Amino acid sequence: MSSISLGIIGSGQLGSLLCQAAKKLKIKTVVISDDEHGPAQNYSDEFIFTKYSDKNKFKEFINKVDIVTYEFENIPNEILREIDKQKKVLPKPEINQIIQNRKLEKTFVNNLGIKTTEWTFIKSAKDIKKNAKLLPGILKTNTLGYDGHGQYVLNSIDDIKETWCFTADYILEKKVNLKKEISVVISRYESNEIYIYEPIENIHKDQILKHSKIPADISDEIFKQAQAYAKLIAEKLDYVGTLCVEYFIDQNNTLLVNEIAPRVHNSGHLTINAFNISQFENHIRAVCGLNKANVKKIANAEMNNILGNEIQEYRKKSFGEKEFFFDYGKKEIKDKRKMGHLTILKQ
Ligand code: ADP
Ligand code: MG
Repeated sequence: MSSISLGIIGSGQLGSLLCQAAKKLKIKTVVISDDEHGPAQNYSDEFIFTKYSDKNKFKEFINKVDIVTYEFENIPNEILREIDKQKKVLPKPEINQIIQNRKLEKTFVNNLGIKTTEWTFIKSAKDIKKNAKLLPGILKTNTLGYDGHGQYVLNSIDDIKETWCFTADYILEKKVNLKKEISVVISRYESNEIYIYEPIENIHKDQILKHSKIPADISDEIFKQAQAYAKLIAEKLDYVGTLCVEYFIDQNNTLLVNEIAPRVHNSGHLTINAFNISQFENHIRAVCGLNKANVKKIANAEMNNILGNEIQEYRKKSFGEKEFFFDYGKKEIKDKRKMGHLTILKQ
């Protein structure tokens, strides 16, 4: 075991896969989570179950670790800032504050000269009416959204009810006639060294990622532009760790940034088997200040997310040597919940 103890906030599948990568590097992991049954406890060296409001539990966590990272962005920013006063939090809390807020995130991206969908900030039904040019559109909660939660499709002005009373901030985005969705996973080190994985092509169903593959079927121009934007975003944020940029490609082949994830990403799961160094290992190496390893691609790959009840079938299947089944070991099966994934290596 190395002398580094890494704290991870969050105990889902991303936390589990981070713990597994840390184990390979002989780094100790302490996971803290408000989910008593979070599967990452099966892979971490220590597990602390707590409410986010319990300062004593966080004190215990801080005392046990040298560095802190997180598996999801919707953590109250004050908690990250409080921890950062004592132990280094990476990605930095300031970055998280921008990315967990769609308005700040899109403003940041647009200020870099990079296109997003057309969007506006919304506080009331009246604001939507004033921005009817963005319909058909998608109303998204400004914060705390994931896997399509907090999103409402508005096809026309008739869908807007004057009586709507907004208890949260929203953004309204114009609906894009999508040709394709891709993502770019990038890892950046404190030394400013980077590794950019090749773009991954993604298919979503009901706003949830269902299928990813490399190589993405895109032009050289889009390939290079997507990687260049991801590099610019990571550099401007002075980012340390792994980050993912999700893109839309519209019918005119325009590349738009959809959103940024300040963490390892579901579309990057195929990097575990398709590369010698996964997005998870690159993240751990970067946040723990290890040297950047030489990353090599092993094979093309496809990844299928296993949602809800589908997991029951997969648990009975047998797999070939190029198929890698991951069962996240979640206690409860829920409709559309990410329960596992299967990566298949190709020629
Ligand atoms: P989440 O934070 O839940 O991942 P996203 O904004 O990434 O939310 O939306 C999830 C998916 O919904 C996208 O990957 C895309 O398939 C679809 N989607 C979201 N916004 C738009 C849009 N403006 N136009 C077309 N499709 C969209
Ligand atoms: Mg998304």
